[in-house]
Amino acid sequence: MPISEFSLIARYFTRPVSPSSGVALGIGDDAALVSVPPDQHLAIAIDTLVAGVHFPVQASPGDIAYKALAVNLSDLAAMGATPCWLTLALTLPAADPHWLEAFAQGLFALSEAHGLSLIGGDTTRGPLCVTVQVAGLVPVGEALTRRGARPGDGIYITGTLGDAALALAQLQARTRWPEQTAGAGFDPDSDAAALRARLHRPLARVQAGRALRGQAHAAIDLSDGLLADLGHILTASGVGASLDVDALPRSAAFRRWEQAQVLPAPETLARTADTADAGPPLPLELLLSGGDDYELCLCLPPQVQTRLATCATGVALTRVGIIEASSGLRLHHADGRVCTLPGHRGYTHF
Ligand code: ADP
Ligand code: MG
Repeated sequence: MPISEFSLIARYFTRPVSPSSGVALGIGDDAALVSVPPDQHLAIAIDTLVAGVHFPVQASPGDIAYKALAVNLSDLAAMGATPCWLTLALTLPAADPHWLEAFAQGLFALSEAHGLSLIGGDTTRGPLCVTVQVAGLVPVGEALTRRGARPGDGIYITGTLGDAALALAQLQARTRWPEQTAGAGFDPDSDAAALRARLHRPLARVQAGRALRGQAHAAIDLSDGLLADLGHILTASGVGASLDVDALPRSAAFRRWEQAQVLPAPETLARTADTADAGPPLPLELLLSGGDDYELCLCLPPQVQTRLATCATGVALTRVGIIEASSGLRLHHADGRVCTLPGHRGYTHF
């Protein structure tokens, strides 16, 4: 029995909203109505995931839904906003109940964890495509933007970098997991699972963004790789920066993979853009240019840095560099040696 559009919406996407959610009118009318307190700005972000571009066609529906929401939460986190509401535009080749059930589970698992209400959307038939829009609140004057970085600010990263890009490289057969060896070797089961979880179910750093709003001079979330995304802060703020590549935070699984790599001679690290896609990815390329991290990159003035221990960010923050007055991005090692830029500069669609 084919299911109608309206019973599909009722069955899979309509859940009660709590009285404290600010929702005056939810799913079922021509538009939703929400209350925005007078001292708050409404922060709105939207992202589309296209099958075959942002996720493999066979990806699990729960993971697709989870990621579609998580990438939007990450954008709100980067503004220091508190996410409150979401809308969902779903284009499906067919109304498959098993697929929809799993999709709804992935979506509500994350939305309920953040206290979000699904307040509307659109349902159409066509090639699989998922658009989520999230709206939230941020006190007027406290939003974090890309614009305020100043020379002397420390550059900080939440969590760890490169895990999702490493998992994707393995799924696309651009690298293979190392054989397990004695001692602290890479575990092809647990380490691979941890890396893949970062790819499919990214953790949006909502708490960290909120804790640092009104304090960080600038912020961005890392979706296209640190070099590309930090570059947006530098351009918007009219400054430059230098980064210590040895300080880039790596997960335990990433470190174990990195230790198992036989690195080419340093002179071959200076790949050009033409040759960057040839050969397996280097650890530094994943850390600097791999996408899908969904960590925050924050520029913190010295007075905030001294108070960091008492900010309830809920995640480790690592200092990786400093904002400088002269434009451009300079990479160096911990001992001061200059590090040559790998060819990639992050993912762009066109
Ligand atoms: P309209 O024709 O007025 O645009 P629709 O028939 O598209 O309205 O949708 C009916 C109601 O169901 C609306 O309130 C809409 O926001 C909601 N809706 C449609 N699709 C979804 C979905 N995938 N998830 C949540 N709500 C949805
Ligand atoms: Mg209408």
